[in-house]
Amino acid sequence: MIKADKTFIIKRCDLQALFDVVIARGYMPVGPTVREGVIVYDELRSVQDLPEGWTEDQDAGTYRLKRRDDSALFGFNNGPHSWKKYLFPPRSKLWEGKKTDDGGFTLKEAEDTQKPFAFIGVRSCDLHAIQVQDKVFMNEHHPDPLYAGRRDQALIIVVNCGQAAKTCFCTSMNTGPRAESGYDLSLTEILEGDDHYFVAEPGSAKGFSLLAEIPHTEAGGENITAAEKCTKRAVEQMGRKIDISDIKELLYRNYGNERWDELEKRCLACGNCTMACPTCFCSKVEDVTDLTGDHAERWREWDSCFTMDFSYIHGGSARKTVRSRYRQWLTHKLAAWLDQFGASGCVGCGRCITWCPVGIDLTEEVRLIRDSENQKDIANG
Ligand code: SF4
Ligand code: SF4
Repeated sequence: MIKADKTFIIKRCDLQALFDVVIARGYMPVGPTVREGVIVYDELRSVQDLPEGWTEDQDAGTYRLKRRDDSALFGFNNGPHSWKKYLFPPRSKLWEGKKTDDGGFTLKEAEDTQKPFAFIGVRSCDLHAIQVQDKVFMNEHHPDPLYAGRRDQALIIVVNCGQAAKTCFCTSMNTGPRAESGYDLSLTEILEGDDHYFVAEPGSAKGFSLLAEIPHTEAGGENITAAEKCTKRAVEQMGRKIDISDIKELLYRNYGNERWDELEKRCLACGNCTMACPTCFCSKVEDVTDLTGDHAERWREWDSCFTMDFSYIHGGSARKTVRSRYRQWLTHKLAAWLDQFGASGCVGCGRCITWCPVGIDLTEEVRLIRDSENQKDIANG
């Protein structure tokens, strides 16, 4: 239910003011823009950089950009990028060291010189994904300084979904399609005839102060109804669903299920699913030196549990087969994560389904594992 006492209207023609205020306050605005046939996240300078009039068709292993018949600015769903590329960059320097003239070695920790980010257009599932990564990178025992610094400073502007892709299943994971909290400002885009505006709800002091500098008016009952209809439409269009009741026990019980053998035949172990997933957090550390040997650097890079090296321990890899790697990924995401972090590692964004080159769909895999148990029950009377 949208609360009328803190709901406002920003007209489409005034949205540039949001960018101007964010930039004037020293943020780097990042958000959706069209590049090379997909909607990616990149630096935005103005409203003109948004994917106006674009949408996409998504399905297992399929993504096609296409034109809309209106001028919606956020009329699409998730693309291959997620906000983790800003908070937990694909590659980041940890430290560098130099030999000194007296034969010693100086070491300097890398400093983050990045301006604070303003994330424009965060979807509800991705807001939950950020909260999942917070548990990994901002836990009280081992906080990650790069992630924590960027996260603390980031401004989060949500855009509630008014449509869902065929690969979306946030309703099954209780993560969307409407954001309830955890943002600075939330927007719901409304297009009705010639009217084009955003229903705006500040969610923090920062959000209220931002809104104060953008032309706005109080929302009326009809605007709130329009925003609620928008959410309802996204719920009705939800392309996939997954039954997560007793999911942890289901997957733990099915360590030996034959379905993993089928996945061994299909999965390419390319790791696309882990790169596209907004919650996957694995990384490796690489040391590099220059040719003189006087200068060394240590870098952190995204890694994937689908690589052979990922589980390498003395004497070989613990997960030699693709079967065991897919099972590890799915079981960690949907089951072990609950034990480890008290939350699911999946927010139902659908990226791993769209960006899997062979169209492996985790919702289908869980359903088939569940069905195989039910069939066994029937066979055993
Ligand atoms: S596992 Fe797939 S659907 Fe779930 S959060 Fe990751 S990419 Fe999205
Ligand atoms: S499930 Fe798909 S995307 Fe993931 S590693 Fe296998 S082939 Fe690649």
